[in-house]
Amino acid sequence: MSFESLGLRPEILRAVAEQGYTEPTPIQEQAIPVVLQGRDIMAGAQTGTGKTAGFTLPLLHRMAAHASASTSPARHPVRALILTPTRELAAQVEESVRAYGKHLPLKATVIYGGVNMNPQIEALRAGIDIVVATPGRLLDHVQQRSINLSRVEFLVLDEADRMLDMGFLPDLKRIMDLLPKQRQSLLFSATFADEIKRLSDSLLRDPVLIEVARRNTAAETVTQLAYRVDQARKRDLLAHLIKSQDLRQVLVFTRTKNGADRLAHQLDRDGIRADAIHGDKTQPQRTKALSDFKEGVVRVLVATDVAARGIDIDQLPHVFNFEMPNSPEDYVHRIGRTGRAGSQGDAISLVCEEEMRMLAEIERLIKREIPKQVVAGFEPGTAPKSEESTRGRGRERAPQRRPELPPAAERHAQRAPSEGTPKPAANSHHLKQPMGHAASHGKRPQRPVAALLGGLNKKPA
Ligand code: AMP
Repeated sequence: MSFESLGLRPEILRAVAEQGYTEPTPIQEQAIPVVLQGRDIMAGAQTGTGKTAGFTLPLLHRMAAHASASTSPARHPVRALILTPTRELAAQVEESVRAYGKHLPLKATVIYGGVNMNPQIEALRAGIDIVVATPGRLLDHVQQRSINLSRVEFLVLDEADRMLDMGFLPDLKRIMDLLPKQRQSLLFSATFADEIKRLSDSLLRDPVLIEVARRNTAAETVTQLAYRVDQARKRDLLAHLIKSQDLRQVLVFTRTKNGADRLAHQLDRDGIRADAIHGDKTQPQRTKALSDFKEGVVRVLVATDVAARGIDIDQLPHVFNFEMPNSPEDYVHRIGRTGRAGSQGDAISLVCEEEMRMLAEIERLIKREIPKQVVAGFEPGTAPKSEESTRGRGRERAPQRRPELPPAAERHAQRAPSEGTPKPAANSHHLKQPMGHAASHGKRPQRPVAALLGGLNKKPA
């Protein structure tokens, strides 16, 4: 199938071609015709499937029919509202909206917390057709009357499951109350927990259900592997793997903000340029870390789960789990950072004894065994007892139980402690029926694990 056959306007086709896309991804093939018909959708698709273009392209097409070339603010009311859980995802989505809409007279902006409101107010005042926003900051603007949502025709909830996990439900309800009843609504979620179903019942009108295969069960583009290693030796092993394999653009996940800072600092000291990205960093710091990483100035980016949401770097080749995540679903989100849109990637977990149970839970969820290896010289149980003290007191502690509080939800947590804390994933369930469609898209032969390990002296666990 081609983009042309979907009936999109020439200005949009031109922008798509400029992005280098030759054919729609499965979610795009399914979602675009339905959105063009004006129907609501509930789509099960995670980041990396091309979902952003899946909703943006048809929205732009529909909006362009009544777009005004006038520069008068009055001719540019907010007609489309796209809500995302994190600032990074909001920024990413807005970048895509701009890229796909660059040949249309539609104006877009992004609004999120953690930065000065004034430039956002000015942008809104100038007249904006499409707003990409995180819920908290959007409501701040509502309160200040710097945004008017009474003319919204299109609503997108992106990563709706994450928004609920981060305690945004009350904010979402307040926002929904401000929108016209007559509108088209699109909901995207990686999982369809009961709360998502309830939300969609209250939000969507006779939605078309769209599901594409989960990347990790069908798309064979990510090579997964676990190294068993003592917690105290993880940093040395990571540095060893990066150096001996000459790995570049390595995204490393830790469970805590402190852990991310510490690891980035230590890698830097080991001669591997690294930076950390997490909720305690200011927005300019986060943006800089990300752009340094994209440009290759920084070789390793250490991130917490929340901060990494929305990071989209074309063909990000290597993802490491320095510590296993709090929930198996976070593992799926983490490895979704690599092997995107058909490119090949590696997801490597460094697993200590205490984390083996989590690894088993992950394997149950993804219905696949993750090959386990040990690297010679890093065998579990060989770390000297005095390791921690020789390395610096407590630096390589066992994973802490307290996960990072999502930055955007911190203020909610202060208001109502239960709101901002990520909930356990136990009550969410995954799309049961992958359509197997994604499996054929961009599928390439899986790189043998041996190639990944080339040059390393290893033996089976
Ligand atoms: P998303 O799931 O929207 O975050 O998109 C993941 C990545 O896929 C982004 O880097 C997009 O630029 C890329 N992408 C989206 N649509 C296509 C397409 N039809 N062909 C190739 N790459 C695409």
